[in-house]
Amino acid sequence: MTEHEDPSRDRLKNHFAQRVIHQARHLLEVWQRLQRAEWTSADLAELTEANGYLLRYAERFEQPEHTQLAQGIKHSLEAVKANRGRLSSDLITELSQLMQRLSRTGLRHGDQLEQTFLPPLRKPVYLALQDQERAQRLAQQMDFFGLYVQTCDSANAFRAAMAERHPAAIVMEVDFAGRGTGLELALEAQKGLEHKLPVLFFSHEETDTPTRLAAVRAGGQEYFTGALDASSLLEKIETLTRTAHYEPYRVLIVDDSKAQAMHTEMVLNSAGIVTQAITEPALAMGALAEFQPDLIILDMYMPECLGTELAKVIRQHERYVSVPIIYLSAEDDLDKQLDAMSEGGDDFLTKPIKPRHLIATVRNRAKRARSLKARMVRDSLTGLFNHTHTLQLLEDARSRARRDGRPLTFAMIDIDHFKKVNDTYGHPMGDRVIKSLALFLKQRLRKTDHIGRYGGEEFAIVLPDTDLEAAHRVLDEIRRRFAEIHYPAQPHDLSCTFSAGIAELRDDLDSNALSKQADEALYRAKHGGRNRVELFT
Ligand code: GH3
Ligand code: MG
Ligand code: MG
Repeated sequence: MTEHEDPSRDRLKNHFAQRVIHQARHLLEVWQRLQRAEWTSADLAELTEANGYLLRYAERFEQPEHTQLAQGIKHSLEAVKANRGRLSSDLITELSQLMQRLSRTGLRHGDQLEQTFLPPLRKPVYLALQDQERAQRLAQQMDFFGLYVQTCDSANAFRAAMAERHPAAIVMEVDFAGRGTGLELALEAQKGLEHKLPVLFFSHEETDTPTRLAAVRAGGQEYFTGALDASSLLEKIETLTRTAHYEPYRVLIVDDSKAQAMHTEMVLNSAGIVTQAITEPALAMGALAEFQPDLIILDMYMPECLGTELAKVIRQHERYVSVPIIYLSAEDDLDKQLDAMSEGGDDFLTKPIKPRHLIATVRNRAKRARSLKARMVRDSLTGLFNHTHTLQLLEDARSRARRDGRPLTFAMIDIDHFKKVNDTYGHPMGDRVIKSLALFLKQRLRKTDHIGRYGGEEFAIVLPDTDLEAAHRVLDEIRRRFAEIHYPAQPHDLSCTFSAGIAELRDDLDSNALSKQADEALYRAKHGGRNRVELFT
């Protein structure tokens, strides 16, 4: 046995690697607080300290990726300090990018870190079912989705697991380890916890209201009865444990007074909001296209034009119809404010405005605007990008690939014999399969890939920085794994396959031609007998 294969040494390494992960999480939590408040010098100190520990652990336990990120964050924090503790748009952007990379380290299949010696780095899900065989099967299926599941075979095993580590979620059969014992165990586990752990209860049969109430009191977020399948379980866990990826809000400020614009920028920057200010209204449209803000703040009175006039011009462009506009002015005449609002504005703030009020207004408006936008570009069944937006993303990725001389592939997926699924098992079951494939793709592809629902049971994937061969490998692995999923159903369990076609960007192909090629390859996969991946060559 070589030194590297020594299992106790690997265990030790894993143990220490976990410490790096915990510290990274802590740092991310501190960072996320920035979304909710203004940044004080105490926050800066706390962030610096948390990052200091991360750097030390990462170096000591030889985690190059974490070391590099922690060094970058340290560098940015030093720049904030040199700026007398003030955030600027550049620094917010820089820090936020580093934090986002940190939050992704080791989180997804296919990312480098997971292929090293580290065990799954996400928190586990504890699965406590009476039937051990069934639990094992479910755990394995959930593993296909990239979820780390730990099964418990007794009350004490569950207690021991809880004592060692808190999970991301608990799936608990009500009668696990004895009648009603599952409920008691969950209740016991939640005792004294500041933040309750999400628990998903399960029972074979429909239960009475008192039991359901008891389940709610024990932290039950969901109550499954009947058959328990990996994909619906996963869907729930995903929504319960989703960590928000915090992208800072972006605000464009148009104000002829340089001093006022700078003041507004400073207030918003202090809350982690990225800003760009222009003092000439004529430059507004160019700035909008370039900066892509979540929200616009307009000065009411400028020598060149009124804020309301500029708002009208902005609203004439379909792209910017839903970007919120907030007017800022010394105007305290209520009638004029109302007039301004009817001219395409969303809010009216009167100078001098309290920083907290400004920050809160901007955050609320920007948040709503983002969720509206998400609804416009996403498909409601799966949450994937819709057809139109997928093509838009392909076009964006194409010009980026061209510019940077990087490879790009486009893949199309179509579920095999899907009509039969609907005919045999019903439309709702068909929907379930579509949702589960969507989730499966999300789990197994990189964060940088764009996944769209192209049509009914058709999906499209934009894979930047990926050549034909790599895309083939990834999709074929997904194809094999997907075929292994069983959906409990009557008259017998159901499993599905899909076919896929892939094309790589070459020469001066436009995105239309590229998607045609992927479609051609898909057609060949169907005619070649389905359940396969074909390349356009
Ligand atoms: P193959 O692709 O292997 O050639 O066969 P298929 O049976 O999948 O072929 P086809 O593309 O013609 O059929 C797709 C079916 O998918 C037709 C439609 O009823 C069904 N479908 C489309 N959208 C949805 C949806 O949102 N939910 C459900 N349940 N079914 C859908
Ligand atoms: Mg089809
Ligand atoms: Mg089909």
